[in-house]
Amino acid sequence: MTPEQPETALSVSPGVQQPPSINPDLVKKLRLRRAPRLDKKQYVAGILAGDRSVLSRTITLVESVKDEDEALARSVLEEVLPYTGKSIRIGITGVPGVGKSSFIEVFGNYLIRECGRKVAVLAIDPSSQVSHGSILGDKSRMETLASNPHAYVRPTPSRGSLGGVARRTRETALLCEAAGFDTLLIETVGVGQSESAVHSMVDFFLLLMLAGAGDELQGIKRGIMEMADAIAITKADGQNAARALTAKAEYENALHLFPMKPSGWQPRVTTCSALANEGIDTIWRTIKDYVAEVKGNGYFERNRAEQIKSWMYENIEYELRDRFYGSTEVSVLLPELEKAVLEGKMSSFSAAKKLLDAYFGVNFT
Ligand code: GDP
Repeated sequence: MTPEQPETALSVSPGVQQPPSINPDLVKKLRLRRAPRLDKKQYVAGILAGDRSVLSRTITLVESVKDEDEALARSVLEEVLPYTGKSIRIGITGVPGVGKSSFIEVFGNYLIRECGRKVAVLAIDPSSQVSHGSILGDKSRMETLASNPHAYVRPTPSRGSLGGVARRTRETALLCEAAGFDTLLIETVGVGQSESAVHSMVDFFLLLMLAGAGDELQGIKRGIMEMADAIAITKADGQNAARALTAKAEYENALHLFPMKPSGWQPRVTTCSALANEGIDTIWRTIKDYVAEVKGNGYFERNRAEQIKSWMYENIEYELRDRFYGSTEVSVLLPELEKAVLEGKMSSFSAAKKLLDAYFGVNFT
């Protein structure tokens, strides 16, 4: 291919003008995939300089399951750690169809345009682990936000257990902060365990709800409502506007019945419309009020400290399980002990003890 010819999937006879590449995104993606690994210093320098391509490549490293990638990712994280923690971390949940991606697109653009913020959007999608299809992660979402130079939209990592994905999302969040993003929006679907995972890594938790659909219908459990620092009734436009106001009053009453939150914050209910671009500023004001209040009463720092501590314990558990099941001793013994348990020849307790003893190198009797 001559230098002036663009890369293309079509082959055209000489003399005929070459058409543009069929899918420039794919070319970009392939280039990224083929990009050689950098050394630690280059990753660190790139991230701290806010280089989005280096940020993406580091996140890919964090998401990798290869041991050498994990080790490199960990050492990059250690280096950038002093530059993390300065953002506002906001969790956003709601059932599929409630309007999460439409809201995030409008909200993110508002934060950049009106408030001069730099916004990173991450997602934890429980569906992607099961089906490899995902409710959240499709790339056509949030197009205008994704192409904004002050935003970074990362699709969901699609591999691994929820625990593994949550761990990587936390690390990704730290990398985004080190790269200068001061507002993190971490999205999930309000249908499973994933909102607890998101709740455990954010400062503020926003629940999006539809007007006129019962809580059960929306699959929103009481526990999720209790986690919320604010509820926003979405799609409050056109004929839905009045219903949204009724729903707002109902949720305000419901929230008053919940016990006081450890933050001392009284959750608020608002209405919003991504379509009409309404109520978006109120939500941001609510978040700012919340941050001011909990920074004032010490909860903000206390909560972050609690989170870091529990991540450490989670990591220990995760690593232990991983190493245990990955060890030769356990993979050799496990099938026969499982069989013995199923055949009633050994108690499950003894089998578990034998496996643990084998792993930790204790002589078992
Ligand atoms: P998600 O599955 O929660 O991410 O929801 P989407 O953002 O994909 O929105 C689901 C549907 O609701 C889409 O058809 C949107 O066009 C529509 N929608 C989203 N926000 C609004 C809104 O503010 N007003 C109205 N009327 N429709 C909306």
